[in-house]
Amino acid sequence: MLYAYAIGILIAGILNTFFGIAVFLKNRKAVSNIVYGLLSLAIVIWCYSWFAMLLVDNNDGFALFFARLLNFGAVFIPVFYFHWILSLINLDKNRKKNLLFAYILTFIFAILSWTPYYIKGVHSILFFPYWPSAGFFYILYLVFGYIIFSGYGVYLLLKHFPKFDYFKKNQIKYVILGSLMGFGGGAVNFFLMYKINPFGSFGNVGIFVSLGLFIPFTIPLTYATIKYRLMDIKIVFTEIMAVLVAITLFIDFIFSLLSSGFILSTIFKLVIFFIFAYLGILLIRGVLKEIKQREQMEKMAWDIRRAYEIEKKAKEELQRLDDAKTQFTMATQHHLRTPLTSMRGYIDLIMTGTYGKIPPKLKDPLEKFEISTKRLIKIVNEFLDISQFQLGKQVVSLKPGVKIEPIIKEIIEELKFEVDSKKLYLMLEKPDNIYEIKADEEKLKVALFNLIDNAVKYTPKGGVRITISDGDKIEIRIKDTGIGIAKQDIPQLFGRTFERGKEAKRVFTTGRGIGLYITGEIIKAHNGRIWVESDGLGMGSTFHVELPVG
Ligand code: ADP
Repeated sequence: MLYAYAIGILIAGILNTFFGIAVFLKNRKAVSNIVYGLLSLAIVIWCYSWFAMLLVDNNDGFALFFARLLNFGAVFIPVFYFHWILSLINLDKNRKKNLLFAYILTFIFAILSWTPYYIKGVHSILFFPYWPSAGFFYILYLVFGYIIFSGYGVYLLLKHFPKFDYFKKNQIKYVILGSLMGFGGGAVNFFLMYKINPFGSFGNVGIFVSLGLFIPFTIPLTYATIKYRLMDIKIVFTEIMAVLVAITLFIDFIFSLLSSGFILSTIFKLVIFFIFAYLGILLIRGVLKEIKQREQMEKMAWDIRRAYEIEKKAKEELQRLDDAKTQFTMATQHHLRTPLTSMRGYIDLIMTGTYGKIPPKLKDPLEKFEISTKRLIKIVNEFLDISQFQLGKQVVSLKPGVKIEPIIKEIIEELKFEVDSKKLYLMLEKPDNIYEIKADEEKLKVALFNLIDNAVKYTPKGGVRITISDGDKIEIRIKDTGIGIAKQDIPQLFGRTFERGKEAKRVFTTGRGIGLYITGEIIKAHNGRIWVESDGLGMGSTFHVELPVG
């Protein structure tokens, strides 16, 4: 059992030696590589002395020496780890004071580690013949080194995690995993130093489980290094392998040359060496190229994802703003409507003589006042309807038994004055009995009024003919002999951009281009269809409305 454990520690030591050297050689100038090298060195001293201590046979003096040496190594682990993390996340410049404090403390621990205040002796526990016994000051190392520096390092990784880009996040995940494995697996040792068996009757199993956790802790770190280019170790491995094989081949050639001179097999070996050297260079180049390409691809993928996220956010924000704007307009319009309604009420009362006879001088201004108020109410109502349609609110409430004819007659009546003053005709053709339909009477009137009013407005000569025909659907056709509509304007006519035709602007300057949008929405809400036909400018227009029966 003891030997199995010792071999485990030896493997951990070898792994750390190997990875530490590889990382350091890769970039001897980068702070993170240097510090990682130092961290590996501390771990390596710790592991090898631990291994040596486990193998000491009945020699307390030797055992104590290795116990102190292993703790001497361990003293440096937290500070190098802390420094390494800081350099990984580019914080080493900002936390100089923290680092200095950590190094000074470590220096003190390093001196103390050779005194009985730190390691007071050795004892046996579980199947270990020798294990270091913690001295009085050892607790300070536990608190400062182990918990505060290492804990703070992991905390910083987690804290800055959301800010990292895609690659860094992946790397850091592995770094965190490796750190937890190393520090978690190593933590068991402390209990044993205080002669506590942390796993009770599962002591031996527990010890091996934590060893199992501890040995491979460098693997996630290395995996992160290889896969996500933490320090681009892949190329180092390739180079080492190629150089090793090349050296072997070259030595083989030299030996062959020394022992037998330039005979055929020696020449053959030389050729093999050159071929390999050539292939080795190609291999290294290939790996370099692959790494570069993968990097570019990953970066591109990351950029695309980011662009997509930004666009999505912008869209959401726009939608939110649009809704907020519409809500705001709606609220404002409600406030406008209340005083307008009361104005209209009072002017009605005045005009019907409730406040006495109207003096002849006031009659004309009051009539103008009444017309303006009504127009204003219409505008506000239109705006309110638009906002509601845009918010997807139910503006129309359908009720059965609605008759079309009276609605149209009412509209004709209301427009009579204008039709007469322009000397137009406005006529209605209809079958005797028209089916009743399901509709919102008030809104349907708004829609039909807009269409008939437009026909009158945009017809300087001739007139307007309204035809109702029914079958399985009711169709209302409003045909005028007016200015007509250009072909290219037709598709936008019912849209929410409130288009107005050029000719229309000339004929009727104060139009707003919102009537047809509302009309279209109202007809859609009645499950109907609306469309327009015109042979072009000056050729008149025909608006069609189709409504379901029943
Ligand atoms: P407005 O009449 O206030 O401009 P509408 O939404 O009712 O707003 O109409 C939008 C545009 O459609 C008008 O500006 C005009 O160019 C065109 N239009 C609508 N009805 C007719 C029609 N009967 N004849 C010619 N053009 C029309």
